[in-house]
Amino acid sequence: MAYISENKIQYTLSHLAHHWYEDDKIRSLFRFKDISKSNLEDHENSILFPLSDATEPEPVFIEVRKTRIPILFPIHSGEEAFRIDGAGNLIYSHDFIKSAFYFLSGQQELKTEERDFIGRYPYKKSIQSKLNCTHLPVVNYYFDLILQGLDFWCNHHGFKPVRRKQLFENFGFLLSHDVDRISFYHPREVLFKIKQLMGLSPLYYSKALTFKLFVKGILHNLNPFSTKDPWWNFDYLIELEKKMGIRSSFYFLRYEHRNMDSRYTFRKPKIKKLMRDLIDQGFEVGLHGTIASSENKESMLQQFAELSQASSTAPVGIRQHFLRFNHPQTFRIQHETGLKYDTSLGFAEYDGYRNGYCYPFKPYDLERNEVIDIWEIPLVMMEVSVLNYRGVDFEELRRAAIHLISEATKFGGIFSLLWHNCRLDESQYPGVVDFYESLLHEITDLKPDSITGATLIGRITGDPKAATT
Ligand SMILES: [Zn+2]
Repeated sequence: MAYISENKIQYTLSHLAHHWYEDDKIRSLFRFKDISKSNLEDHENSILFPLSDATEPEPVFIEVRKTRIPILFPIHSGEEAFRIDGAGNLIYSHDFIKSAFYFLSGQQELKTEERDFIGRYPYKKSIQSKLNCTHLPVVNYYFDLILQGLDFWCNHHGFKPVRRKQLFENFGFLLSHDVDRISFYHPREVLFKIKQLMGLSPLYYSKALTFKLFVKGILHNLNPFSTKDPWWNFDYLIELEKKMGIRSSFYFLRYEHRNMDSRYTFRKPKIKKLMRDLIDQGFEVGLHGTIASSENKESMLQQFAELSQASSTAPVGIRQHFLRFNHPQTFRIQHETGLKYDTSLGFAEYDGYRNGYCYPFKPYDLERNEVIDIWEIPLVMMEVSVLNYRGVDFEELRRAAIHLISEATKFGGIFSLLWHNCRLDESQYPGVVDFYESLLHEITDLKPDSITGATLIGRITGDPKAATT
């Protein structure tokens, strides 16, 4: 049968526990019932979670907080999420536990071997794409419904409502930068433009602009006095964020694969100095795992050691380059390397929630049927997803960001934004600097807690070592 196992129920409830101060008495009344075998109403004053035996999601939509939310494993038809019966039992109408587990565990990603040209789970295969709910933290809505049910039951029995908690007063803002490229005028970047102009590599912008940038690159390399590079813009990023009270995370990518990873090493003196400057000013230095590291532990261990040495601190967190990620292998490698969190799980092709959740969560290893001891901080928006994959403009990005922030604010959750340092060059993207600054102002006007991944994990785990990075 396809009922959810006890391990998976406990795993899901451990995430529900981020949203309320668990009351032992109420918790002891939870019952998980197979409705085909037992009569739910054999109980008195209990809290009954009916279990679905469906093997695949059979979504229905119900309205929660004025938003239409898909329930993957419904039990009853109708809009009602729960009810109290004549014996004082609270009975949920749907299997919210199995529905939440489906999203959190990423189990849908194991169902297909299909991967895109970089080896990633394709967004178009996801249930979020099919149900058009990528922009909603559906699991937060499920947990909210469960807690609404508990309040209803408490009220019915004359008890006080349950005590809720949330991670942030408004929302947490996690800004990050993947340092893929640091030298716009690197001779290889200039030569690459010839390939683009010859039609051998894809164009990032128009042919005319590519040609203009190629000529600019040649002139730059011929002039021994030119030093300014639009991709070495870290002083600008640091000063802007300090002025705005933001502290972000920078994930560094080392040279490994000659075309797919970066063109710098961690040993480079100016990279080492940059890392030290960032750490000294309260920013986070994390690892941007190379393409190979998502499935190669040796590669991961080596780059972890090199980054630890170059920055004089062991990194706490990682984001995989290109968001290339495989369940559960990549999590296992990261955990065994000693990393405390990953923040790769967003869809490359679409902004929103790959696991339907705007809180950090623990991954579940479906092969070994156990929790993996590492945190996942969901990546909610990467500028590339909106501007390149979706192909929309800055204004649409602003609108999407403000929507995702409003969702995070409903639950005191997080809005994480990845903005590449190489996408702040006016010669390639006219108007980008003004836009980026105005977006950050708009976000900070909404009064978030601006926090790095390492600080957030330190706060959740009470481990000050994680927080000092
Ligand atoms: Zn990258």
